[in-house]
Amino acid sequence: MASGSDGQNSETLNFDDPMQRPRYTGLASFFRLPYDENFEADPPDIGVIGIPYDMGVTNRPGPRHGPREVRNQSSLMRRINQATGASPFEAAIVKDIGDAWIKRPFDGVESAHGEIQAHFERVKAAGIVPLTCGGDHSISLPILRALAKDGPVGMIHIDAHCDTGDDYMGSRFHHGAPFKIAVDEGLLDPTRVAQIGIRGSLYDPSMWQFSFDSGMRVMMIEEVEDKGWKTCIEEAMAFVGDGPVYVSFDIDSLDPSIAPGTGTPEAGGLTMREAAGMVRALAGMDIIGADMVEVSPPYDPGGVTALNGATIMFELLCVMAKAKRAA
Ligand code: MN
Ligand code: MN
Repeated sequence: MASGSDGQNSETLNFDDPMQRPRYTGLASFFRLPYDENFEADPPDIGVIGIPYDMGVTNRPGPRHGPREVRNQSSLMRRINQATGASPFEAAIVKDIGDAWIKRPFDGVESAHGEIQAHFERVKAAGIVPLTCGGDHSISLPILRALAKDGPVGMIHIDAHCDTGDDYMGSRFHHGAPFKIAVDEGLLDPTRVAQIGIRGSLYDPSMWQFSFDSGMRVMMIEEVEDKGWKTCIEEAMAFVGDGPVYVSFDIDSLDPSIAPGTGTPEAGGLTMREAAGMVRALAGMDIIGADMVEVSPPYDPGGVTALNGATIMFELLCVMAKAKRAA
């Protein structure tokens, strides 16, 4: 694969140009991008990162296998977004900067989160905007600890669940609570957080009470159905307003018929047209980082969940690269 300052635009024969090497050939990096774990030497504008970690799940496991499978499916992505005309690999230098893999996976979730945070502190120090592929949703917390160190940020959060729970079986660091902890730690400004697509059954009526009490804007799936996704994302963006924003996309926001490969599926979810449309609408926001999480390949016959996850990551990349050029 080509590497160096000319990155994916190299004239040399390389895997990221499907006109030279077909998309199904070679090793699968994210979007067939140059793979560079030593990203500090020649940092890209945007770094695509995998976090193969899933010790934060509360039900079906498997998202530790997400990054490899999403890399594979992302090799199908072409260069230009047909809907918007965005050409992210021209608008910004983008690389696959490898995985934030956990060196001591059996030291517990909090230790793993410490390792992830340290990795993202390196990424931030190198001036790279991260686009992350999980991993379970607990990984958003250490990412925010690294990115929002200088003050709380806003968030567009698309998910079937608010993930603002608390102690569960003796720990807060599972995938159902990262955004309560992030508010508690001053990483998220809850009055600039919009959560979209929420649905499913509850343990008790107050399961997501923290979202409401802290002032987050919670949009149930019924609101998306009633108002339509365009109105919902416009309202969400107006709520979040100007200023730095993190984007977190849980693949279980999609309907299980198109995203069966995930740990806590909830019936009656978003379509890909709705989800992709909402991500495209984010163009122009000050996006400091984004993630797509919870793809679990062992529950993903045919790879459709990983394909949809890769597609959402491409849509995210398109709006992030556009913002990069404008900066
Ligand atoms: Mn979820
Ligand atoms: Mn989630």
